[in-house]
This record gives sequence, structure tokens and C-alpha cells, in this order.
Amino acid sequence: MLIGAHLSTAGGVDKSFKRAEELDCTAFQIFTKSNRQWRAKDLKPEEVERYHARQAETGIGPVICHASYLLNLGTPDDALWNKSIDALVVELERCEQLNIPALVLHPGAHVKSGVEAGVARVAAGLDVVHNRLPDVRCKVALEITAGQGTALGATFEELAAIINACAQSDRLAVCFDTCHALAAGYEFRTPESYAAMIEQFNAALGLERLAAVHMNDSQKDVGSHVDRHEHIGEGCIGLEPFGYFLNDPRLANIPFLLETPVKDDPGDNRRNLARLRSVVK
Ligand SMILES: [Zn+2]
Ligand SMILES: [Zn+2]
Repeated sequence: MLIGAHLSTAGGVDKSFKRAEELDCTAFQIFTKSNRQWRAKDLKPEEVERYHARQAETGIGPVICHASYLLNLGTPDDALWNKSIDALVVELERCEQLNIPALVLHPGAHVKSGVEAGVARVAAGLDVVHNRLPDVRCKVALEITAGQGTALGATFEELAAIINACAQSDRLAVCFDTCHALAAGYEFRTPESYAAMIEQFNAALGLERLAAVHMNDSQKDVGSHVDRHEHIGEGCIGLEPFGYFLNDPRLANIPFLLETPVKDDPGDNRRNLARLRSVVK
């Protein structure tokens, strides 16, 4: 099974494998650059080489990347939109260097230009990125959002609208986040509601588009539209529903990745991983 966490790359991207080994992760997620800065130093060739060597040695993967939080492809502001496109191109090039199959991206916020304009704007931005990188294999995985403010992508249908508006829609995937989905209004805390929710996902997007599941409990309840991650089993989701995902045979090859708070490193991740593993049948 592919279970892991978002891990630090302090000291170099290759250093994440040591952290993954310490936590017995079989997959994990990283940022390949600071998530709160636009600029990034190029990855050093020797760092990239060490990364590949460590991945081959440990057999851990897939490694998923999460894009910077600053990017907004939904914005009506041309300067920010272009800056976001340039930054996404750089992120995808870095993923490609590291053989990372999926880059998780928050679709963006329409900033009062309206959902329809926002959806079109995101799709147009992704088209530009795809045209600039014809040979990059890494897929952009649009993540479901909590729907905070004017954030786009808080429903499966809105994610599908973005994907369907893209010329090269086969280069896009989706990332499901349990905290975001609950906050967005999706109920999946009983076996029946989980089954119905997955059916709805499959109908709108197709399960084959699913690249990763972020396993986060939520501080806020269903439909709150507030994105606050909580330790597994300590929030509004509770422990048991995580088992519905982990034991779903349709999700057998999907990486399940924690993005829960880390104050005690690696203790917090270790504890949350143990909770996930405790509900695997
Ligand atoms: Zn995210
Ligand atoms: Zn997430």
C-alpha cells in the first residue's frame, strides 16, 4: 500500500528519502521549492543525481509534488496570471527532473470575476503551460478545495469543467483531500455516504484521473468552507472514515498522503501514520 506524508526537503530534495525511511513511508509528497516564495534556485545536478540514486535504493515512490501556494491561474489580474504560468512551468520542469508523476495544484481563485470566468481563466493558463512544455510527462493534479473565499474547484463538477475546457485534458489529474472535501460540503463519514461520494467523483471526473489522496482530518465541520487540517482521528472526520479510503480496492494504487500539522517532527507524522495503518484491513 502507498501510505506516506508530506515531508521536508531541508538539506536537498534527496534528503526526503531518509525521512521517508524513518517513517516507513511507501510514498510521499514534497515541495521542490519554497511554497511561499516565487523564486527558486535551480536544482543542482548532483542533488538530482543523488535523488534518483536514493529513490532507486529505497524503492520508495511515487513521490508527488505540491505546487507553491502563491500561484493563481484563476485571477483576472494579467500580471499575476502570467507570473503564475511562468512559475508553474518552472515547477513542472523541476518535477520532470525528479521523475515526479504528478504536481498537485490548487486551481486558483476567481477574485470576484465569477466562477465561469475563473474556470475559463484556469483552463487557458493550463493550455499555455502545456503548449510551453510539450514533452513534460508530469501531470498537473488539480486539488479539490474547501471553497474558501472565491477559491475554485470546491466541487467535482467545477474541477471537471476546468479539465474539459483544456485542450490537452489528458495531461491533467485530480487530487482528493479529505479535509477540503468535507469542508466543501461532501459527506463521506458513513460507509453509505462514502460509497455515494465516490460514485459522484467517478461520474464527474472518473476514478482513473485520481493521482493522490491527501489524508487530513478537519477542524471544521461539513460545509464550513474553512481549510484547517487536524491530526487523524482528532477532528470532525474521525478515524474510521479514513479506513473507507484505505480499504477501497478501487484506490489500491493511489498514494495516501498526510498533510497533518507537524510541530513534533517526526513524532506527529509517526503518530498519524500509525493511526492510518490501524484502520487498514
Ligand atoms: Zn493543497
Ligand atoms: Zn491537500
